[in-house]
Amino acid sequence: MSFESLGLSSNVIHSVKKLGYLKPFPIQEQAIPVILEGKDLVGIAQTGSGKTACFVMPILEKLQNAEVKKDRNVQVLILVPTRELAIQIDEVFRAFTENLKREIRTMAVYGGVSINPQMKGMFGVEVLIATPGRLLDLIDHNALSISGIQHLVIDEADKMFQLGFGDEMNKLFGMMPVMKQTTLFSATLDDKISEMKKRVSMNPVLIEI
Ligand code: AMP
Repeated sequence: MSFESLGLSSNVIHSVKKLGYLKPFPIQEQAIPVILEGKDLVGIAQTGSGKTACFVMPILEKLQNAEVKKDRNVQVLILVPTRELAIQIDEVFRAFTENLKREIRTMAVYGGVSINPQMKGMFGVEVLIATPGRLLDLIDHNALSISGIQHLVIDEADKMFQLGFGDEMNKLFGMMPVMKQTTLFSATLDDKISEMKKRVSMNPVLIEI
């Protein structure tokens, strides 16, 4: 199995060799075609499984063919529990944007640092990687809107609950459109995750690695 056979174009695949990816990991073989098709997905996978590329590659594939949007309406929102994960995912996006058909702006925002540069940098961001609390703060400051997002990714959903972000997540879900694509990754599938799955996705494909 090759990255090409999953439906990704050469611009997006360009960077995989530099990153040392020889062929897709099992989770990528299963998840990438599903996300490219526009279907919702729930992936039960651990850190280290290769889950980040599962959503980064299809998201860039779609965005590079879409019209450029220069405003404060984020197109793709990636919700993560920690600052470290936000930074790490942003780095993966940047690694893959080198050879795309057009420039795609990504940004990671998280708490524990000044909000002002994050507010100023928000204009024209298409892919936002955010922790829930700081995202709510930024929305309160009118720095951005998530009311028109096309794709929501929730990464490490189980950790969101462990860290007590349930209420913040619910508030955020209420600000999003009903019609959107959702990709949810979690290490476990317990009652809370099932409830979240029902709230944010429609007939998701379930992948367990
Ligand atoms: P993740 O679970 O997304 O954090 O990925 C775990 C590690 O696997 C990261 O260091 C990735 O760079 C690496 N990785 C992801 N996909 C592949 C692949 N297809 N081949 C080799 N390494 C990969």
